[in-house]
Amino acid sequence: MPIYVLGHTNPDSDSICAAISLSYLLKQIGKNSIASRQGECSDETKFILEKFGFEEPLLKKSYAGEDLFLVDFSDLNQAPADIDKANILGIVDHHKLGDITTPVPLECWIRPVGCTNTIIKEMFDYYGINIPEKLSAIMLCAILSDTVIYKSPTCTSLDIKISKELAKIAKINDIKALGMEMFMVKSSIKGASAKELITRDYKDFNMSSCKVGIGQLESVDLSIFKERKEELLQEMSRYKNEGERDCVLLLLTDIINEGSELLAVCEDDTIIEKAFGKKLKNSSIYLPGVLSRKKQVVPFLEKAYKG
Ligand code: MG
Ligand code: MG
Ligand code: MG
Repeated sequence: MPIYVLGHTNPDSDSICAAISLSYLLKQIGKNSIASRQGECSDETKFILEKFGFEEPLLKKSYAGEDLFLVDFSDLNQAPADIDKANILGIVDHHKLGDITTPVPLECWIRPVGCTNTIIKEMFDYYGINIPEKLSAIMLCAILSDTVIYKSPTCTSLDIKISKELAKIAKINDIKALGMEMFMVKSSIKGASAKELITRDYKDFNMSSCKVGIGQLESVDLSIFKERKEELLQEMSRYKNEGERDCVLLLLTDIINEGSELLAVCEDDTIIEKAFGKKLKNSSIYLPGVLSRKKQVVPFLEKAYKG
């Protein structure tokens, strides 16, 4: 029976590349394994896979009765609906510990670093397995994506050290140029509907029993969103009501100037104002220096929701 390696719903480049890299490692240590995904790959991820010659992992949404290794998440919110009927063998993750639990012991590689692929590189070293050149390249891309080319406060010295090791294996000389190439692809919003933009990199969180959705768009140029702001807010409002959410937020993150415009559609605006210490103007606030949803947004919102 194969072990399926899968990342979170609405997968990002880390989730997809981690499924590929960890399933390769598991095979090398004698465990039959298949990389899978719960949803569509983003344009950025497609760009990475095409550039280095990889297929998209298997699209699979149901896992009842299967053996699993989870990568890049440990939250039920981001898991397949039937995960309670699956057998979780392990978790490799770099987020706060979620609410997934198991009836038997499991293998956990959870570290406070910037990217799951950083941890997977350490697993390769632990098992003494060489990483093929192309695989090393997509692992590097995942680190550049998750750490916003090392700019995010989630980035650690280990992420930088390991990405340099991966670049050496992959024979990539200009790491930052590769990162910019990826973020140019990621920044494109041409032809995308408002809903696609809100949900492109989107997660639902449970905060004191309230459902809070947070999307994020990382861009090299925020001015492209100016003329679409009204449309985005209308769609956020519709999405909030449709999913019975308390609040839908969208972070428009400027990776060059390092800050985010936060768009917010909420039952109660004062929660946002309490979380970030600023008044919303036209459903928007600017948060200088904010690049990370995980470190600079979620903890403050959780605290504000707790009251
Ligand atoms: Mg992720
Ligand atoms: Mg990640
Ligand atoms: Mg991310």
